[in-house]
Amino acid sequence: MTALSNLQALDEAAGVSLDRLTELTAYTFEAPVAFVSMIEVDKQKLISRLGLPMAETHIRESICSHTIGSDQVQVVPDLREDPRFRDNPLVIKPPHLRFYAGAPLMAQNGIAIGALCVMDTVPREFSDADRRQLETLGQSVMHQLELRALSGRREPVSGLPNRHQFAIDYASLARREPGKRMYAVLVDILDIPRANEAGQVLGMPPLEALIRRAGVRLKLGLDGIADVYHVGVTRFAFLVDLPGPEDLESLLTEIQKRMIRPLMAGAVPMAPMFHAGACAVDLGVDEAQDVIRKILIGLHSAISSQGLVCWYSETRDESLRRGYRLAADAERSLRQQDFHLVYQPRFQLSDLSPRSAEVLIRWNHPQLGPVSPAEFIPVFERTALIGSVTAWVLANALEQLAIWKRSGIELCLSINLSVKDLAKAGAAAQILAMIEGKGLAPADVEVEITEGEWLRASSLPGEQISELAAAGVRVAIDDFGSGYSNFGYLTELPIHTLKLDKSLIDNIVEDERAFLKAQAIVRLAQDLGYVTVAEGAETLEQVGRLKALGCDEIQGYALARPMRPEHLSAALTKASEVFPWRGDAGETTSG
Ligand code: C2E
Ligand code: MG
Ligand code: MG
Repeated sequence: MTALSNLQALDEAAGVSLDRLTELTAYTFEAPVAFVSMIEVDKQKLISRLGLPMAETHIRESICSHTIGSDQVQVVPDLREDPRFRDNPLVIKPPHLRFYAGAPLMAQNGIAIGALCVMDTVPREFSDADRRQLETLGQSVMHQLELRALSGRREPVSGLPNRHQFAIDYASLARREPGKRMYAVLVDILDIPRANEAGQVLGMPPLEALIRRAGVRLKLGLDGIADVYHVGVTRFAFLVDLPGPEDLESLLTEIQKRMIRPLMAGAVPMAPMFHAGACAVDLGVDEAQDVIRKILIGLHSAISSQGLVCWYSETRDESLRRGYRLAADAERSLRQQDFHLVYQPRFQLSDLSPRSAEVLIRWNHPQLGPVSPAEFIPVFERTALIGSVTAWVLANALEQLAIWKRSGIELCLSINLSVKDLAKAGAAAQILAMIEGKGLAPADVEVEITEGEWLRASSLPGEQISELAAAGVRVAIDDFGSGYSNFGYLTELPIHTLKLDKSLIDNIVEDERAFLKAQAIVRLAQDLGYVTVAEGAETLEQVGRLKALGCDEIQGYALARPMRPEHLSAALTKASEVFPWRGDAGETTSG
C-alpha cells in the first residue's frame, strides 16, 4: 500500500496516463481485453482498461492476484479448464473470457503492486517470445508510473501534483473521454496579502505548513471524487464529474465548512479562507490552459465579491480581454497620435461666464473605434501606462494653454490626474517644472483627483498634493459624493474645489429630497471654504435649481459639451453672441 501511494498509482490521472500502453498491449497480442490492475486491501482496481466494463472487482474474483503474488508472467491458456478459475464470474458470465496472461508490476523495492494483463474470449497459447513482450510492456507501465511520480511535477510544499501535471493529466483525460462534460474548480485558501504578512511575521516554514495542511484537508474532502493539484502558492485545482452546477455548489459548501476551521501556523491559529472559481469544461474541446484561465477569472470574481464560488463569465472574460488589448495597443496609439484632447468649459453660475475648461482625453482606436476614457483610464491605472498617458496629456494641454494665452484668451485648465500619478516621489516637482517650462503660472492650472480613502495628508499622494497647492496649483476633488464622500479627511489637505458628482444632481429638479441633499452638501462645502462645482448638468431646469441652491460653478452638456480646442477658441472669442453654448461643438461622442 505504501509503494502504491508513493507512486500515486490509484490517482485517476495515473490510470489515464497508462491508457496508451494498455491500448498497445491489446494491439500487440491482438486481444480484445487488456488492463492494468492494482491491488487495494480487498479490491482489485482496474486503473486503465480496454474491453472490460467494470473498474474494480473483489479480490476473491481477481485472477491477477495470482500474478501479483508471483515474480513472473503468469499464463492460463484456458480458464475453463483451470479449477482455480472455472467458476470465476468473468468466465461463466459475459464477457465469457477464456484466456489470461499477466505480467507482475514490481515497485523498485521488489514488491509487486499490480499487473498488466491481456485476456481473450478464446483459449490461446502464449509463446516464450509473447511472455518476454508482455514483461517488457509491464516494465514500461512501471516506468511510466515512476516517471510521473518523480518528474518534478509536484509542488514541494504540499507534495501534490502541480500545474504542469494538471495540464498533462487533463490532456490525457480528454483523450480518454472526449466529449465528456466536467467541472473545473480553482480554490484559494489564503489571500495573498495575508499570506505575505504571515510569511513576514512567522517565517516561511509555518506558512508552508499551513498551506500543506490545507492541501491535505482539501484532498480528504475530495477523496474518491477528484484529484487535487497545487497550482499556485495558495491555490488548488481539481476536475470533478457531477450532474449539475448545483451539485458542485453543494459540494463546495461542504468542503468550505471543513476548510475554514482554524489551522495552526507556528503557534498562531489561522483561519484559512475559501473562495472558488468554477467553469464547465467539455473534454476534447477546451484546452487545459483555457480551463485554468477561466477558473482564474471565476476565482477573482469570488474573491472580489467575497463569495464562496463564482462561475466563469463570458462577459467578464471579454471585458478582461478587451482591457488587455487596450493596454497592449496604448503605446503604439500614443506614437500614432490616435489620442487627442477635448476641452469642456466650466461656468460661473451667477453670470454664466466661462471660467475654465476641463481637459478630457479621447482615443480613436484604429480598429475598435472611439474608446471612452471611463473604460481605458482604469485599465491604464492597473499598468505602468498611466504615467506615459498623463505625461502626454499634461504636455499637450499645457502647450494648448500657452497658445491660448499668447492669443489673449484668459482661461484656466483643469487636468485629471490619477492617484497613481501622485503616488511617486517627485511627481509634484515634475508637474510644476512642466508648467514653468511652457511659460505658465501654477495658478493657470487645477488638478482633479478622484476622492478616496488613500487621500491622507501623511500618504505619498497627500504630500504631492500639498506640494502642488503650496506652489499655487489648485486641487479639486472629482466625483465628490459618488463613493467614499467624507469631509473628515478633506480638511487635512489643501483642497480648493469640490466637483459634485453627476449622480448627486441628476434628480434635483423632480425630487425634492435630492435637491435638499445637494443643497446641504453645497452649504457645508462652502462653509468649509470650498468652491463647489456641479458636474453633468444636462438641462436648463437643472441649471436653475443649481443656482437656487447656491452652487458656485457648473459644467455640463446644458451649457457646453467637451469640444476640440479650435471650437473652444472660436466660442470664447465670440462668447457673448453664442451663449449658452449648447449644441455639439466638434464632439460627437455622447460622453
Ligand atoms: P470626469 O473627470 O468626472 O469627467 C467628467 C465626465 O463627464 C466626462 O466624461 C465628460 O464628458 C462627462 N460629462 C460632462 N458633462 C456631462 C453631462 O452633462 N452629461 C453627461 N452624461 N456626461 C457629462 P469622459 O470625457 O468620458 O471622461 C470620463 C472619465 O475619464 C473622467 O471623468 C475622468 O475620470 C477620466 N478621464 C478623462 N480624461 C482623463 C485624463 O486625461 N486623465 C485621467 N487620469 N483621467 C481622465
Ligand atoms: Mg474630472
Ligand atoms: Mg467627475
